[in-house]
Amino acid sequence: MFQDKTRSIYIDGKWLDVNQEKTYAIYNPATLEKLTTVAYGGVTETEAAIEAAEKAFTSWSSLTGRERSKVLYRAAELMAQDADRLGKILTLEQGKPIKEAIGEVKGAAQFLLWYAEEASRAYGEWIPSSVSTKRLLVIPKPIGVVGAITPWNFPSSMITRKLAPALAAGCTVVLKPSPETPLSAIEIVKIFEKAGMPNGVVNMVTGDAKAIGKTLLSHKAVKLITFTGSTPVGKYLMREASDQLKRVSLELGGHAPLIVFEDADIDKATSLALKSKFRNNGQTCICANRLYVDESIHEPFTAMLKDKVEQLVIGNGLDQHTDLGPLINQAACDKVQLQLDDAIQKGAKIVTGGYELTDKLKGYFYPPTVISQVTDDMLVMNEETFGPLFPIQTFTDETEVIHKANDTDYGLAAYIFTENTSRTLRVVEQLEYGIVGVNDVFPATPEAPFGGIKQSGNSKEGGHHGMEEFLEYTFVSIGMD
Ligand code: ADP
Repeated sequence: MFQDKTRSIYIDGKWLDVNQEKTYAIYNPATLEKLTTVAYGGVTETEAAIEAAEKAFTSWSSLTGRERSKVLYRAAELMAQDADRLGKILTLEQGKPIKEAIGEVKGAAQFLLWYAEEASRAYGEWIPSSVSTKRLLVIPKPIGVVGAITPWNFPSSMITRKLAPALAAGCTVVLKPSPETPLSAIEIVKIFEKAGMPNGVVNMVTGDAKAIGKTLLSHKAVKLITFTGSTPVGKYLMREASDQLKRVSLELGGHAPLIVFEDADIDKATSLALKSKFRNNGQTCICANRLYVDESIHEPFTAMLKDKVEQLVIGNGLDQHTDLGPLINQAACDKVQLQLDDAIQKGAKIVTGGYELTDKLKGYFYPPTVISQVTDDMLVMNEETFGPLFPIQTFTDETEVIHKANDTDYGLAAYIFTENTSRTLRVVEQLEYGIVGVNDVFPATPEAPFGGIKQSGNSKEGGHHGMEEFLEYTFVSIGMD
């Protein structure tokens, strides 16, 4: 499916030839087989990409929103039509089950579609003046060249979620995809190329993350860095960006609580808790990380969850029946094991999982594991797991569980299961999270603002809020005779 060497650096509408000395290999996490090699770019390539983006900004930003949206519509269509092939590439490099991968690609196309529609809706303002001799206007303008740094857990949708609003707003982009998953990124750039994106509007550099990051941070033409990834890297980018007061949009880690109240529908709550936790094998920033279940329904809830978890099929994501693919790498498996060992040492009990998988699975596999008798001091209750380990704690009091849910530096997503409307509103108002799912664990959608508060992030992606990240506003004060 792939050539030995895949061209992965795209600057000013041209793919750079891959130089043998400057490459690195991409592996399939399910089989540990090498898929291909891609280019290992650094400072020089990033500078060239920024300069191309800077040059293209003048013409791209002066098009009408309608003109920009034409390219985005075409890209959305091309992507949706090719979802099966793109999904396969995604599964090969990232590991997630093919049904999830195809779903992700279709979702990624939806971001292109939604922002194609939004491109002509960057409204300004007319402010009624307090004096009759002035007229006051606010004009939105695209911020300029954007550096986009994306993660491996959603190799496709995290790119279009950033690039679609940036391009709709009139910005030009230098994309640095995750080193683990450049192949989906290459396909997205090819789609833009086919859709007729003018040269220099979208550029991509793969390779040395630190060098590419430093160049994006230090180059004056880059006005905004949009990042999805770990909290430490997000903090680093924000610190460094302060030197030039670059804008930084951050989507960082989470530690989502999922609270099941006594009036919840247990069948629905167990099914959705499972989908939240084990989607992408626990490797999403909004995955439920800790489960709080009302003491009075704890037993039937745990029994039903155990039953459903034990029916999950583990295997190569390319197999249509697979529910759980591999983790991204060995470090991810080690982290889950560390959290499990810590929990057991502090008194947790295994409900299901925790066993060694047979060696017929060669990749980075870890069994879905549920633990009970969990206490607040365990690592799993405090640090993002990013893997298939699910701790259950019981509670008896609403105030107490809200306090526990909020007692973290993270503030991305939280979930509650209840059929009581008053409780829903009371709890939602008190949860310190950017996103709250009520009897729903799939809150990410192009038309709504996704993003964390506290140390989970400072921005929104999706909705009209998502485009505002890429705009700045000029206030025009007009004196009149
Ligand atoms: P993870 O550990 O889950 O891969 P990271 O935050 O390390 O999360 O990675 C998210 C993205 O940030 C990736 O594209 C990665 O290459 C990039 N990245 C990591 N370190 C840096 C850095 N110092 N400068 C710029 N980008 C970085």
